[in-house]
Order: sequence, then structure tokens, then C-alpha cells
Amino acid sequence: MCPVIFEPFKIKAVEPLAQLTRAEREAHLERAGSNLFGVPAEAVTFDFLTDSGQAAMSTEQWSAVMKADESYAGSRSFARFERAVKDLCGYKHVIPTHQGRAAERILFALVSGPGKVIPSNCHFDTTRANIEYGGGEALDLVIDEASDPSNPHPFKGNVNLERLERLVRERRADIPLGMVTITNNSAGGQPVSLENLRGVSRILRGVGIPFLLDACRFAENCWFIREREPGQSHRTPFDIAREVFSLADGCTVSGKKDALVNMGGFLALDDDALALRARNLLILTEGFPTYGGCSARDLEAMAVGLHESLEPSYLEYRARSTAYLADGLESVGYRTVRPTGGHAVYIDARALLPHIPPEQYPGQVLACELYLHGGIRSCEIGSVMFGKRTSDGRFVGARNELVRLAIPRRVYTQSHIDRVVELAAEVAQRARGLRGLRMTYRPDYLPHFTGRFAPVEVPEPVLNA
Ligand SMILES: *Cc1c(COP(=O)(O)O)cnc(C)c1O
Repeated sequence: MCPVIFEPFKIKAVEPLAQLTRAEREAHLERAGSNLFGVPAEAVTFDFLTDSGQAAMSTEQWSAVMKADESYAGSRSFARFERAVKDLCGYKHVIPTHQGRAAERILFALVSGPGKVIPSNCHFDTTRANIEYGGGEALDLVIDEASDPSNPHPFKGNVNLERLERLVRERRADIPLGMVTITNNSAGGQPVSLENLRGVSRILRGVGIPFLLDACRFAENCWFIREREPGQSHRTPFDIAREVFSLADGCTVSGKKDALVNMGGFLALDDDALALRARNLLILTEGFPTYGGCSARDLEAMAVGLHESLEPSYLEYRARSTAYLADGLESVGYRTVRPTGGHAVYIDARALLPHIPPEQYPGQVLACELYLHGGIRSCEIGSVMFGKRTSDGRFVGARNELVRLAIPRRVYTQSHIDRVVELAAEVAQRARGLRGLRMTYRPDYLPHFTGRFAPVEVPEPVLNA
């Protein structure tokens, strides 16, 4: 039998959980137009909307916060932050930004443009938006296995190397750089193998194209390499991370994920000329290069968090507790995307609610019911986000109808998760009785944030006299 994997920390500050009645939650959800983004956090018991910026900081991080040197230029905290990033990544230039998308904004303002194409496994949505904003093309080259929720491939974040090679052969001059997202957020938090990263590095750098990592969840990715890739189990996550970063020429990072902070990020680069231009742009929109978009205390907390997230006991707990939620949900009648990724569990809502068609948003229906029944907040990733109407009025649903439960780092305990599974089991038992939703307001962009919904009207049953 496997020993119980326990939370490798004890709790020093606590925050009460909201406990509302179903009637109170119904009132909140009604006001929000059945959109969980519109529900106040104080009406949520278990908040799995996102893992971004939700981490609980450690005593080491909080004490680093107190030591921060907030000097405008040349602060001690920047020196510590720069050293922490260089020790891990090895890149020459470290440019702090207020979060990941600010690093992307600066990078792609410098290299993207009309006629340019930037390949990746899957671009995260802010990365794609920043590339396209400048007129460039963001191209996803993930392997085919990624789109099948039940395919057990251990590295569903991998790049299709043949397609990358072909692209490089045909459009070498149009590719200012190539990227890989670790782990692959848009395809379920799935990892990329070391072997695949070596392949991408060889293809791109072999012809002089810079290779950058979107490294928000680098630590989780390194843990999966250690656990799943032949020949890697004897290495420390730090050692694997050093090799991963050495295969690339730089990275963009949102500190709100594996750096275990609530705000912060950075761009790191080897190229002197590009770094000089990036710093000049940084001053325009973020701040002076020794603080960028952050306060010194953010930099201190990130410096500690970047290294804490590579501790094996933390990563083992992180991966096992995410899988624990997925296994629990499977045991009470849900299907989830397999294998379980690092930061989230994705429920297959189509499998649970086959009687609700895509145009009645089965993922949104399930997300709402999990909230109404248990105060559980999740996020639909299905036809609300990706559904479209054709010019002749036909509805084309998303490829998959998923509900994502993203797990904040070091926040919830095993008994919280046990309770979530219990509540979800009760929802699953009543799944056949759930009714569809229609959209009463659909904004032109990013409809999941501000769209509104109402129940579909069903005709009254005709009773035989
Ligand atoms: C969150 C995220 C970003 C953007 O970072 P922000 O800090 O939210 O701006 C970029 N890429 C990936 C893979 C992410 O998960």
C-alpha cells in the first residue's frame, strides 16, 4: 500500500471558509446571471476558479517580505531576486514584470509583427493575444494525443517535432523565435518531456532561431519528467530544471503559478541586444529595471518561492493531491481528463450530462450546480468559451465540454478535497435532472468572463386526463 502523502507544512494563519445555504447561493448566482465570475468570493466555500495568484506563502517568504529594500534604483532585493533566477535558469538578463502577460507584451512588441509566425505546443491565451496584437501569427503544434481526453500519453504537452521541422524548413525567415509552454496550460496542464524539449531545442537553435520557454509551471513539469520519463527518476527536480532552462535562450514567467506568489513575473534572456531593448520598453510601461512592475517585497517573495517550489516533498504532495481529487471524482461517477495534469482536474461534462446539447452549455450547467449544491467554484472550458454560431445560425460547439477545478497551491487540505468529492457525488446522482442554459448576453470577446445565462424553458408536460 502507498503511504498517505500528507501536506508537507503546518498552518500558521487561517481564514474562515464561507458556509452559506443553498437559498443564499441561489440568490448570488441569480444576480450574477449564472456566471461564477460574477459571484463574490465571500459566497464561495471551495474556490477552484484558478490556481493563479492563489498560493499560500511560506514563513520564509513572509520574512523575506519584511526584509525587502524598496529603494527605487539598485535595491538589495533586486540583487537577491536576480541571483535566485540566474541560479535556476542561467540566463544573463533578468527583467522583472508585474505578471506574465507584461513579459509577453514586451517580448512580442519587439519581435512579433505582420508576416511573423511564432510556433509553440499551445500558446496560452494572453501569449496568443500579445502575438496577434502586433499582427503576428501564434501557431499551435501540439501532438494529436493532446486533444483526446482519455488518451493516457504521459506527455500530452509535447510538440509535434515533424510539423515544427517542416515549418522551420518552409518559413525560416518568418520565425523570430519559437516557444514551448511548460506545463501546457491550454491542453490540461499536461507536461512536456525532456526528450521533446531537447528535440525542439535542436530544431530551432540548429538554424539560429531563439527558443523561449513559457515557464509558469516549470517545477510541476520537472516533477512529471522525474516521475514519468525513463532514466530521470534519480535526478532532483532542481537538476532537471537546470537542464530544461539550459535548452532554451530565455523564458517568460508568471510568478503567480509555480513561484508561489500572489503577484509578479519576469522575462529572462541571454541575448544582450534584445535584453537592452526589452529594458528600454520596460521603463515605458512597467518601471525602472531593478523593480520592473513589482515592489521589492514581491521580488523577495518570488526569489524564495521559485526555489521552494522545487522541493521534492512539496512537488510530490502537489502532484499526488491533484491526482487524489481526480481519482475521487472518477470513483463517484465522473470522467476526467487523463492523465491528471499538475495544476487542475478537468471534468468531462458531456459524459455526465449527455442529455444537454452543446448549445445548452453542459459545462456551465455542471459548474453552476457544483456551486449551488456545494459552494464549489470552477470554470467552464467548453462551448461558452469556444462555441460559435455560423452565418446560417447553426451552433458549432467546442471540441470538448470541460469543467476545470484548478487547485491553489498549499491552500486546501485532504479533508477539504474529501468533502468536495462527497458533494460532487451528490450532484452526479442528480445529473439526469439538470436542465440546460441559454445565453442571454454574449459579449463579443471572452464571453466566459461577463456572459449571462438563464435556464432554457421546457414545455409544461401535457397530462393525460
Ligand atoms: C497565467 C499564464 C500566463 C500569463 O500570466 P499572468 O500572470 O496571468 O499574466 C502565461 N502563460 C501561461 C502558461 C499561464 O498559465
